[in-house]
Amino acid sequence: MVVRAIIVGRFQPPHKGHIEVFKQILKEVDELVIGVGSAQESHTLENPFTAGERILMISRALAEAGADLGKVHIIPIQDVNNNAVWVSHIISLSPPFSIVYSGNPLVKRLFKEAGFEVRTPPMFKRKVYWGTKIRELMIKGKHWESLVPKAVVEVMKEIKAVERLKDLSKTDYLLK
Ligand code: NAD
Repeated sequence: MVVRAIIVGRFQPPHKGHIEVFKQILKEVDELVIGVGSAQESHTLENPFTAGERILMISRALAEAGADLGKVHIIPIQDVNNNAVWVSHIISLSPPFSIVYSGNPLVKRLFKEAGFEVRTPPMFKRKVYWGTKIRELMIKGKHWESLVPKAVVEVMKEIKAVERLKDLSKTDYLLK
């Protein structure tokens, strides 16, 4: 039987820590579902990239890292306004899975209560590989490129990500 796991994150943007975790999980299970969470969000300071852009960044980065893409399924997952039904919402969208990887306490709690085996993946340089910090460096015009895979830098260039973030940072109501 195929052992398939899921990991859900916003990946705003996917960074080297995320890619290390994906590689680690793929050593432990046969297949991995990567759920791109808050898929309805984009063009805000906290969630600047669309689900499609994040999917592109993740698939390119995994290909660059030599991962077997036949074993990875990347799906968008919109938020729902009710935590109690979030897990069944994911089950309705995802290829079947039996194991959940997460470092997020709410995500872990919801899947545990639904009866799933939940594993906590190791953190890789959390203070460095951290989405909030990377977005901040991009806005400030500081060096961020070494914190994400090269393939992610390429997609960022293609979508003019730094320009977008700088514009978003000028929009007052988004800062609240
Ligand atoms: P994230 O992108 O911050 O993190 C994703 C995963 O990567 C986490 O498990 C985290 O532990 C891991 N990670 C982060 N930095 C790492 C590093 N340096 N090294 C190794 N691993 C690292 O995403 P998140 O905030 O956990 O995303 C949860 C998603 O689930 C969000 O989209 C949230 O909205 C959604 N959610 C929705 C509901 C609902 O709709 N009701 C409920 C719960 C969660």
